[in-house]
Amino acid sequence: EHDGYQSLRKAVRQYTPDEVMALVKKAGLRGRGGAGFPAGVKWGFCPKDVFPRYLVCNADESEPGTFKDREIIEQNTHQLLEGIAIACYAVQAETAYIYIRGEMAEGARRLEQAIALAEEKGYLGQRLYGRDFSLKIYVHRGAGAYICGEETALLNSIEGIMGQPRLKPPFPAAVGLYGKPTVINNVETLANLPPIIERGADWYRSIGTEKSPGPKVFSLSGQVHRPGNYELPLGTTFRELIYEHGGGIPNGRAIKAILPAGASAPMLTGEALDVQMDFESVPQAGSMLGSGSVIVIDETVCIVDAALRMTRFFKHESCGKCSPCREGTYWLVQLLERIEGGRGRMQDIDLLQTVLDQIDGKCFCPLGEFARSPALSSLKHFREEYEYHVRQGHCWAR
Ligand code: SF4
Repeated sequence: EHDGYQSLRKAVRQYTPDEVMALVKKAGLRGRGGAGFPAGVKWGFCPKDVFPRYLVCNADESEPGTFKDREIIEQNTHQLLEGIAIACYAVQAETAYIYIRGEMAEGARRLEQAIALAEEKGYLGQRLYGRDFSLKIYVHRGAGAYICGEETALLNSIEGIMGQPRLKPPFPAAVGLYGKPTVINNVETLANLPPIIERGADWYRSIGTEKSPGPKVFSLSGQVHRPGNYELPLGTTFRELIYEHGGGIPNGRAIKAILPAGASAPMLTGEALDVQMDFESVPQAGSMLGSGSVIVIDETVCIVDAALRMTRFFKHESCGKCSPCREGTYWLVQLLERIEGGRGRMQDIDLLQTVLDQIDGKCFCPLGEFARSPALSSLKHFREEYEYHVRQGHCWAR
């Protein structure tokens, strides 16, 4: 009814795999999972003539404040499957896995139903659209570990071994799932493919900015009137998202901090409202766009408490493989609890900074760096709140 699978049909019937890859490169589609790496370029890293190849859809959406993939999976299931099939055709993979966060039971159920329906109707399966291209898609449920969103830990988890990151290189495009070339793309990235095939690269580039083209789903949460997912052009400002779409802050309160990418990105202050949300502007402002999960913190929130809660999350999710992250997150939580609880000494603030410095650049995977963000950025912007806690034994925001 809605022309589903027509883009897949067009891709397979009208283009060679290399032409699909070239089209996606021309469109400038960048990964929506956090890194923003150009999808078509990533596909091109698979070594020539090594088969089988696998495609893995990363649906292990676990970043606090991120809930865009869940909505795409539940509300637009076939568009995701169509995107997976187009990507598989481009990289010549005949097996795809959707690694879905275990808690997203409804999404997993809908995906399995949709795959069965698409196979029944002949949109997925053997010799699709009369061409020498077959595809089988499997749904693989995760077991609730944040680290399995990291692509190599995810591959370990599919293989049935402990979900801990692998040493890179070799990168998954060369040696991935079961030792074979593997392309790993985020849900939203893949869901962008059908409209690119349908309407072309120039249309896609007419949305967003020159270096960050296309639309992006921003998950807005925290202290706003209308939290939710908003699909807007990349380059939209925080102000437009928060005030026009999100309806502003309850009771007209001021914004204290903005988390542009969930808990793992450095927080910005309310002065960043006019920063554009794209892959260039947010880093220039001192943070990162990540998966576009914007959490708003207003002036009534204790920033030390907020940093403590987020750091506890990372301590809990540290996989334990390397000591800077495993031990470092433990000590960060100890110090933050002491300061937040009114038992801190002034030198604990410097000690906190020392522990943050000790973790810096020494971790095996990005989680260790992410774990620094809440304490590091809150200390940078709101050090006086930490000092107030130590001096008064409580928070001024309360
Ligand atoms: Fe595991 Fe943390 Fe080390 Fe990553 S940085 S490998 S999550 S212990």
